[in-house]
Amino acid sequence: MDLSNKCALVTGASRGIGRAIAVALAKAGADVAINYAGNAEAAKQTEDLCAAYGVNTLVFKADVANAEECKAMMDCVKDHFGRLDILVNNAGITRDKLMIGMSETDFTEVIDTNLKGSFLCMQLASKLMIKQRYGRIINLSSVVGLHGNVGQVNYAASKAGVIGMTKSAAKELASRNITVNAVAPGMIETDMTAVIPEKAKEAMMAGIPAGRAGAPEEIADMVAFLASDKAAYITGQVISVDGGMGI
Ligand code: NAP
Repeated sequence: MDLSNKCALVTGASRGIGRAIAVALAKAGADVAINYAGNAEAAKQTEDLCAAYGVNTLVFKADVANAEECKAMMDCVKDHFGRLDILVNNAGITRDKLMIGMSETDFTEVIDTNLKGSFLCMQLASKLMIKQRYGRIINLSSVVGLHGNVGQVNYAASKAGVIGMTKSAAKELASRNITVNAVAPGMIETDMTAVIPEKAKEAMMAGIPAGRAGAPEEIADMVAFLASDKAAYITGQVISVDGGMGI
């Protein structure tokens, strides 16, 4: 994959899948802006890993659920790199509970971060990309957005919403040489899944034909492919990277 002369913004890139994506894009030669919510030290570590590939980097703290902070971040990316070729909407949270015990806050926080945050960044990025007549937008959905999951009504709604948003934006932007795709990971080993109780994890593992959880790098490889020129004719798609979990 050759992404030299490309500039990317990865949201939620301080840890987990986002960090792996930022590093994969940098390895392919892209300059990378690393967004995070609060974990400055981890974001700096991601920056160091990216900078080791000799690319330009930028770290920006912003809550993707906050429109003003997203605008400030996008302005900073534009000032720093002059353009934005690749946006990866990766920032995401969970607030798992059975539906009958789920508070309105549990619901809206997840929707605001996972769905509204992706919308805000996608809208701002597409304004730049339309002018450039080039862009690659990759949104992180989930196997849960396709199939649902116990205790994740809020998260499933956000990730299903990401799919509808991805397909609609793909239709709106295709004529401007901008592709919009979603990646739907299965169970990937990160801080997000580390908190799942062991019993629930075992049940999930039993439903994975590959017999193992995935690594963040396995998601990052798919994102790097979708960000590349090799994926120019792929848009509006949801690519599952889940060891067969969704079969
Ligand atoms: P993670 O390890 O919990 O990392 C979450 C990242 O998102 C962190 O960098 C965090 O920043 C950032 N973040 C959280 N809220 C934010 C906000 N409001 N604004 C900006 N950044 C924010 O999660 P992960 O497992 O890598 O998941 C990454 C994405 O993949 C998520 O969208 C998730 O839903 C999706 N996904 C994950 C799995 C899985 O099995 N892990 C499966 C399917 C889909 P700080 O470090 O600053 O807190």
